[in-house]
This record gives sequence, structure tokens and C-alpha cells, in this order.
Amino acid sequence: MPTLPEAIIIGAGFTGCALAHDLSLRGFKVSVLDRGEIASGTSGRTHGLLHSGGRYCVNDQEAAIECIEENIILRRIAAQCIEYNGGLFIGLNERDQAYLPHFMAGAEACKIPVEQITPQKALQLEPNLNPALLSAVLVPDGVFDPLRLALAFAATAVENGASFFPHHEVQEMLFNGSGNAIGVVALNRHDGKKYEFRGDIVINATGAWAGKLASLVGIKVPVVPTPGIMVAYNQRLVNRVINRLFEPGDGDILIPQRRMVVIGTTSFEVEDPDYIPLDQDQIKQMYDCACHLVPAVSQTLQRGVYMSARPLIKTEMTGRSLSRTFKCYDHKESENIDGFVTITGGKATTCRAMAEKTADLVCSKLGISAICETKETPLVSYRKFFWH
Ligand SMILES: Cc1cc2nc3c(=O)[nH]c(=O)nc-3n(C[C@H](O)[C@H](O)[C@H](O)COP(=O)(O)OP(=O)(O)OC[C@H]3O[C@@H](n4cnc5c(N)ncnc54)[C@H](O)[C@@H]3O)c2cc1C
Repeated sequence: MPTLPEAIIIGAGFTGCALAHDLSLRGFKVSVLDRGEIASGTSGRTHGLLHSGGRYCVNDQEAAIECIEENIILRRIAAQCIEYNGGLFIGLNERDQAYLPHFMAGAEACKIPVEQITPQKALQLEPNLNPALLSAVLVPDGVFDPLRLALAFAATAVENGASFFPHHEVQEMLFNGSGNAIGVVALNRHDGKKYEFRGDIVINATGAWAGKLASLVGIKVPVVPTPGIMVAYNQRLVNRVINRLFEPGDGDILIPQRRMVVIGTTSFEVEDPDYIPLDQDQIKQMYDCACHLVPAVSQTLQRGVYMSARPLIKTEMTGRSLSRTFKCYDHKESENIDGFVTITGGKATTCRAMAEKTADLVCSKLGISAICETKETPLVSYRKFFWH
């Protein structure tokens, strides 16, 4: 019997879990290591918007097209983790009104099905909206449950033979005599011992930590940890995702999550994703923005505040201009280290596509012809992760 190709994935966020699912379906023996629990990085502290792409359809069309394509696929394969209630972009002033034609043209260019409705109709659908709204556009946004989504990918990977090693922090890489990666050394944070994991390919799926992880072996990955804040209020005041009809900015999305609404977010760069300062001014800013979209937020209690860092790819742009698309690095090409690949950037909404691109690269490097099956394979229940 030929032995199975072995893949070691570092990071069990959306990207690592989706990649474990993809590679397991392609016949790999997969081990996933995370220094914490599943989704204990950015994935467990995300807003939860299943993007329609509307947010990016004017200024970042590559990301917008990825979002609408993956939105449709995730609704099909991960329906258990998604509330598909749709979303609204609402215009609240003349600036937003001037943006409306650009938005409609961008949505059409990116093939996002949108429908402009009257402010009266929008208020019938969502009575808590700011009654002064001037325009409204329906979009196919949804809301996902972050932990369940990551676990559903992981559970399906486990059903297909993958192994997960939470609380294993990768501290070193192992190389052969030619300088190519053949495995990692990880500290088991439970027993304090170090363990070796060997494989045919090592994949860095550590999101905002991708630069830090790569620096262990002296490699530079241009990821910029870009945190944002989210504030939850303890009443479900809307059933649809409410977006401000303008270019992406701070505090312009209010989403329903279970019995709450959550406003987000901000965007600033930090050196170290392990240290994100919490700024009280940002909490106040989010409250003001939420009240502007849905004034009834002022009648609710704040339920919680959380932050995490986006893994954005560094380009000559800065801040909100950084693209929300993703990138896969083959370190054979850039640093002549074979057996080591990094995937970073992107969004939760596009994690399946990120996994597909990475698995394609891994297969072509190892001369394996297995094709991607994740578009059509429904994920098993997230609960099954705990059955193994
Ligand atoms: C404020 C905010 C709001 C967002 N909102 C949305 C949204 O509404 N919709 C959407 O689609 N996207 C959203 N995103 C983006 C999305 O959350 C991220 O793109 C996604 O979670 C990144 O997943 P990941 O698996 O790449 O990284 P992570 O989830 O961060 O996973 C990386 C993992 O690597 C592990 N790790 C790090 N170093 C090591 C090591 N040395 N050894 C072992 N493990 C290690 C970490 O513990 C972590 O679990 C948001 C992001 C932010 C910051």
C-alpha cells in the first residue's frame, strides 16, 4: 500500500480547519496544531458577517467577488452554522446618496444580487432602523456562528482521518540536510514537554501570527496584524445585517447575533497580535455609530466588548485600503525552502477558497493530482468534533 502524504497545519482557525478538511478529502494524513483551542485566535473573535461582497464592491472588487462566490457555497455546505436573513445597506445623508450609484454599479460588476427598496419598505422590514434613512438596498448578507463554523470544518476533517492537537505551540521547524522543512517541534502546554511532528509539507495558517511564525526560521511574511473592536448589546434589535451605504469605515455594520446586536468595527495596525490595546474612545465611537444606524441601541445594555487582529497582506497601501483578499506563499520560490507554505489574509467568508488554493499548491508541489471536493461536500455537524 502506498503511504499517505502527510501534512502538518499550524493554526486551527477558519483557515487551518478548512484546509484540514480539504486536504483530508484529497487523501492526506493531516495533523493540525494550535497553541490554544480551536478558533482561539482571530476566528473566535470575529464579527460573524457572512459577507455578500457589498462592502467591497466599489473599491476592492477582487475581495467582493470572492465573498459572493463563497457566501453562496457556505450557505450550501454549512447551513447549520449560518443564519441567512439578508442585509441592508442604508443611506443616511447626502454623502451616502452620492455613493449609491457607485454601489449599484459595483454590485452589478461583481454579480452580487441587490435590490433597491424604498425607505418605507426598509422600515417595514426593520422597524428599529433610523427613521431618517434616505435610501436602502437589500443584499444577500448572512450571519455565521464563528465557533460552530470552525468546528464544522474540523469535525468533517476528523471524520476523514485528520488529527487535531490543541494547546501545542510550534516553537521550531525541522529541516533536512538540504535545508528543506520536514516537520516542527511543538510545546505541549499541558505536560510542558516538546514533541516532534514530521510530514511531507508544513503549512503556516497562523493568520495574524503568520509573520511571527515565519520569523522563527528567519523568513519574512508581509502580514499586518490589523485589529478591530466589536461591541455587543443585549437585545436583538434587527434581524438583518445593517450596513452603512458608503465605503468601508469604522462602526458601519450592525449584525444580529443570537439575542444580541453587535456593532463593528475599527481598523488600526499593531506590531504584535498578542498585545492589542483596548481603547475606551473606540467603545464610545462604536456606541455612537450603532445608535446612528439603529437608535434603539441607546435603550439597551452593553453586553460585552472584544477585539482581535485581521491578518491583512502588506502592500504599498495602508489602513482600510489594504485589500481583504488572501495570499499563499510557496517559500521554495521566495526563500528556496521547500516543504513550507504560508496562507494568510482573507476573511472568514473566504476560508474555504483559501484552503482550496493552498491545497492546490500543496498538491502541485508534491505531484499529487487529487482535485478539490469542498464546494460540494456538506460539512458534518459541528457537535461531532467532540465525539472523537
Ligand atoms: C475585528 C474583526 C472583525 C472581523 N469580522 C469578520 C466578519 O464579520 N466576516 C468575515 O468573513 N471575516 C471577518 N473578519 C476576518 C476573519 O475573522 C479572519 O480573516 C479569520 O478569522 C482569520 O482566520 P485564520 O484561521 O487565518 O486566523 P486565526 O483564527 O487567527 O487562526 C490562527 C491560529 O494560529 C494559532 N497560532 C499562532 N501562533 C502559533 C504557534 N506558534 N503554534 C501553534 N499555533 C499558533 C493561533 O492560536 C490561532 O488559533 C474579522 C476580523 C476582525 C479582526
